[in-house]
Amino acid sequence: MSNGYCLGIESTADDFGVGIVSFKGEILTNINNSYIPEKGGIHPREAARHHADVAGKVITEALKRSKIEPKDLTLIAFSQGPGLGPCLRTGATAARSLALYLNLPLVGVNHCVAHIEIGKLTTGATDPLTLYVSGGNTIVSAYELGKYRIFGETLDIAVGNCLDVFVRELGIKFEGGKAPGRIVEELAAKGKKYIPLPYTVKGMDLSFSGLLTAAVSLLKEKKCNIEDVCFSFQETAFSMLTEVTERALAHTEKKEVLLTGGVAANSRLQAMLKIVCEEHNARFFVVPKEYSADNGVMIAWTGILSYLHGITVPVEKSFVRTKWRLDEVEVPWVEKRSLN
Ligand code: AMP
Ligand code: MG
Repeated sequence: MSNGYCLGIESTADDFGVGIVSFKGEILTNINNSYIPEKGGIHPREAARHHADVAGKVITEALKRSKIEPKDLTLIAFSQGPGLGPCLRTGATAARSLALYLNLPLVGVNHCVAHIEIGKLTTGATDPLTLYVSGGNTIVSAYELGKYRIFGETLDIAVGNCLDVFVRELGIKFEGGKAPGRIVEELAAKGKKYIPLPYTVKGMDLSFSGLLTAAVSLLKEKKCNIEDVCFSFQETAFSMLTEVTERALAHTEKKEVLLTGGVAANSRLQAMLKIVCEEHNARFFVVPKEYSADNGVMIAWTGILSYLHGITVPVEKSFVRTKWRLDEVEVPWVEKRSLN
């Protein structure tokens, strides 16, 4: 079936997003409403309250902007995990209500798979080695025998979370909704001196907590300027990511590399990976900025891919899965696409 539309709901963490996508892969609308904590990190129950408050408004606005009627929808998809329990449950409740009210099938989407699939849809990559870097995840993966296999991942915090906590510790206010990682990127561009920081790669896995602690203490001791610390922070964290990606690329011999997730917006990380791709004769793809951070479009598109392969979930079994790993998910649609 090539006609139809899916409405996708994303709510794994701070973002409540709704996207509407056609079965042909045309993106009709992408609306996001983010929870911004007054201080500190994401409080799961407060974020969930935010999502419940804005859900109706965001869904209505998404339908209005897409210029389709609810009756034109074929399918409802929601991010089923991994993520923060209260946030996931709020999105799932909205998705279940819509599916029941409109009498439509429901698909539970794995959030990590969705970040990969939106990268492939928007860049044209078909069978990439993927570096997925965001506020909640840091994963190097590639498709092999029915699943996206994990070649390397963080052992503690995600690289995006590392950047976010670092910026909070600096006491910088997030002006105009600017992403913390973007603030570090701007300051790093003015840095000149590299200060050695903990570089932790264990086998194919990574650890960022030592780097975070060391960078924060450097600043608190006021021995170095902030631009140099941001520069050194980025050089260290992104070199670690690039090293693991390069080794996975050499092992898998994939011909494409895809950078996806919120941190993909960083131009320094992009530049490092581009060099690796040139050295290994691989094509380099970066997800467009509007789809790099969490969004409902990626959920809608992955919902369509799943549905077209017979994957749906009855409402009574649509429990959220807070720890649902990328490599547990069957992705039957990939084989055909990666072999063409
Ligand atoms: P996500 O979890 O996919 O919604 O992405 C959000 C993460 O992306 C946060 O940790 C942000 O700090 C990070 N981020 C956004 N823009 C940039 C950037 N230019 N450089 C580094 N990190 C970024
Ligand atoms: Mg987010």
